[in-house]
Amino acid sequence: MADHEILIIGAGFGGMGAAISLRRLGYESIAILEREDDLGGTWHVNRYPGLAVDIASVTYSYSFEPNPYWKHWFARGPELKRYAEHVADKYDLRRHMEFGVLVEGARWDEDEQHWVVTTRPVGKGRRKTRTARYLMTATGFLSQPKLPDIEGVQDFAGTVVHTAQWDDSADLDGKRIAVIGTGATAVQLIPKLAKRAGHLTVFQRTPIWVTPKADFRIPGAVQKVFAAQPWTQRAARTVNSAWLEGMMVTAVLHYKQAKALNAGAAALAKAHLRRQVKDPETRRKLTPDYSFGCKRPTFSNEYYPTFNRPNVTLETAGISHITPSGIVSRDGTSYDVDVLVLATGFNLWDTNFPAIEVIGRDGKDLGKSWRTHGYHAFEGVTVAGYPNFVSLNSPYSYSGLSYFMTIEVQMRHLERLFGALRSRGSRTFEITEPADRAFLDHMLERMDDTVFNRGSCATARSYYYTNEGDAVLLRPTSSANARKAVEEFDLEAYAFA
Ligand code: NAP
Repeated sequence: MADHEILIIGAGFGGMGAAISLRRLGYESIAILEREDDLGGTWHVNRYPGLAVDIASVTYSYSFEPNPYWKHWFARGPELKRYAEHVADKYDLRRHMEFGVLVEGARWDEDEQHWVVTTRPVGKGRRKTRTARYLMTATGFLSQPKLPDIEGVQDFAGTVVHTAQWDDSADLDGKRIAVIGTGATAVQLIPKLAKRAGHLTVFQRTPIWVTPKADFRIPGAVQKVFAAQPWTQRAARTVNSAWLEGMMVTAVLHYKQAKALNAGAAALAKAHLRRQVKDPETRRKLTPDYSFGCKRPTFSNEYYPTFNRPNVTLETAGISHITPSGIVSRDGTSYDVDVLVLATGFNLWDTNFPAIEVIGRDGKDLGKSWRTHGYHAFEGVTVAGYPNFVSLNSPYSYSGLSYFMTIEVQMRHLERLFGALRSRGSRTFEITEPADRAFLDHMLERMDDTVFNRGSCATARSYYYTNEGDAVLLRPTSSANARKAVEEFDLEAYAFA
């Protein structure tokens, strides 16, 4: 008998969604292990100034648990953390959670037909093993911070802070601050830092597409309407999700059919830049030279105007090296720096796919197998050779632009899969090789429509691409297709025993 029927790794929205689905089916022996000291995933870990969601909150939330009381159209970080806490309380998930537990790896025990999971406490403490009949990784896509491989970065003598490990005690006021990186995180952070810094230098390697953000405080009266008439908030969700699907998802994933939409999104971003930045040379530097959507675009009304400020420098010559006192650019300019902010994103392909060591049937290591033989997962959820294992952060799993689209499609997959397991009186499931292979072939075929294959993406580095340069993160279909597929996939694709 295993210690737990179900073991979920990660207490963010993905792990909580999985637990909600399984509890709906009547499973009670569920353990959720989390390395952090509280729940909420990204929204617990990230605390940098300006942290907010850049997908409207009517869409960035569980559809079955709307929050009528969002204060802003785009919720700020602490509000999302409170929403996560509300969900954990309402769905009685806290009693399943253990914090400060780092999962190192898991090995399938063929004789016992369960997973043997190795854990150790964060900080001091002994390694332990525990067993679970079903194992699920819900470790997020953006959870392993990436430090830049720049010469001398270890030698910097001032304050260094990565955005995902924000140091609230760092003294920023009046300081000479340097930010490396101009991704979605930096776009939120830079305007806030510029207001506090004596001087801010932004080291941009690749400009990002930025479109306007229709942000506003949601009036109390509207919150009351959302609460009293939930259909109004559902309607707002539908309209907002349709807009995102058209402008962002279709324009990127159906590039072949919707080039005009893609060009429209790029034109919108360029007009935004023209309106907001006065200096033509700065505008030129901020204009991407790759197709819209090759890397994740972002939304902001504050980012571009920051570069009009006298205390902000945009440096695009590239970084030569870092010294104990600052940064030297490739053109030989030296910048003295007090605080070095690394907005350099996350490492997905070396340390996060999967985030722990997973050893399946016949000693097969999932991470090594993916890296050596290519990335695949049936419907972005299960992999042949790994029985009773669900990987929620898999290749081709990300549908739509809001993470909640992905989460809810995966919740439905779990409900169908575990429902079938129960009704057949089975204890073991495994996706069959042909089904896993056929899904990969389908994804590769659909990839041909995307901006990644048809646009001009050569100069766009992104976590969307593996180390080999393949865009395997996003499911190259519409969100509607993902929702339809999860209702219709053939349960005989699984072997039940
Ligand atoms: P990111 O998009 O991966 O951006 C990292 C930045 O660091 C890039 O500009 C990159 O330049 C630069 N960089 C990395 N290594 C470098 C080096 N060695 N030298 C110089 N520059 C270097 O990471 P992120 O901004 O943290 O965003 C990650 C994702 O988080 C977003 O795409 C989004 O999905 C999510 N996010 C979401 C929200 C939200 O509100 N929903 C907010 C923030 C973030 P290159 O482009 O040249 O590689």
